[in-house]
Amino acid sequence: MINNLQDTVILNNGVKMPGFGLGVYKVEDGDTVVHSVKTAIKHGYRSIDTASFYDNERGVGQGIRESGVSREELFITSKVWNDQQGYDSTLQAFEQSLEKLGLDYLDLYLIHWPVSGKYHETWKALEKLYQDGQVRAIGVSNFHVHHLKSLIENSSVTPVIDQVEYHPHLTQEKLKDFCTRENIQLEAWSPLKRGRLLNEPVITEIAQKYQKSAAQVILRWDVQNDVVTIPKSIHEHRINENADIFDFSLTGEEMLRISELNLNDRSGSNPDDF
Ligand code: NDP
Repeated sequence: MINNLQDTVILNNGVKMPGFGLGVYKVEDGDTVVHSVKTAIKHGYRSIDTASFYDNERGVGQGIRESGVSREELFITSKVWNDQQGYDSTLQAFEQSLEKLGLDYLDLYLIHWPVSGKYHETWKALEKLYQDGQVRAIGVSNFHVHHLKSLIENSSVTPVIDQVEYHPHLTQEKLKDFCTRENIQLEAWSPLKRGRLLNEPVITEIAQKYQKSAAQVILRWDVQNDVVTIPKSIHEHRINENADIFDFSLTGEEMLRISELNLNDRSGSNPDDF
């Protein structure tokens, strides 16, 4: 379990990744994303999660350059979007992301969604980028167990990460167990269910006990579950608040009460039907 904002998890290829980061989905390119990235890094964040689909890689790159923190201290993730999947088009998509970000390598590159009939070829392109040293680790996003199994059976590199929707209303127990067995790190997207969990009575009750916010309790639950988490905010006070979760611990009983809120309820698409 990580013990501070810059603590890392060790991925299955030995690369270290911060266990906590900033997500920038739906953050407008330009000043807004530049400000979010710089603010997060100023407050100690070292991991930024973007994607070509978010259309803000240029601003993310600018924020990184203006942060004053060296590239090697940062961990930058991007993803290949669905309409660019396939071998050659993925290689091109990667080059475009690098160019927009203004970087010469990525720390992590993910297949954004398991596009049927395409994702095996896409993975071959990611393996090539990894072997060529253009990316330090490769992984997937929105893969169910059956997608992961199929990929593992048909390729030489096991994904380091599966980034999926994960929060107290969608606890993904089977996927989590499978990832633990296969040494694939689980990473939570929409950890706050985009704000829709913040009035959940069990969570607000626990939050009151620790004098913390509901968001902090949920993100602490991620950390104690050994799930990498990347909450998004464009507001400095929330960027700061979300990361201020290393001075309290949830009891085993509280962890369980939060996990029992599971409804298998998604805010996004089901990876079998998107
Ligand atoms: P989150 O669960 O992180 O919620 C973000 C929302 O919650 C925003 O509206 C934000 O508002 C608000 N918020 C953040 N912190 C607080 C707080 N402390 N108190 C109250 N409200 C708060 O949703 P996301 O969907 O953005 O998920 C996080 C990241 O995961 C994304 O940004 C992206 O990087 C990644 N992702 C990946 C996907 C994939 O398919 N691989 C899909 C979706 C997301 P405000 O900004 O105004 O503060």
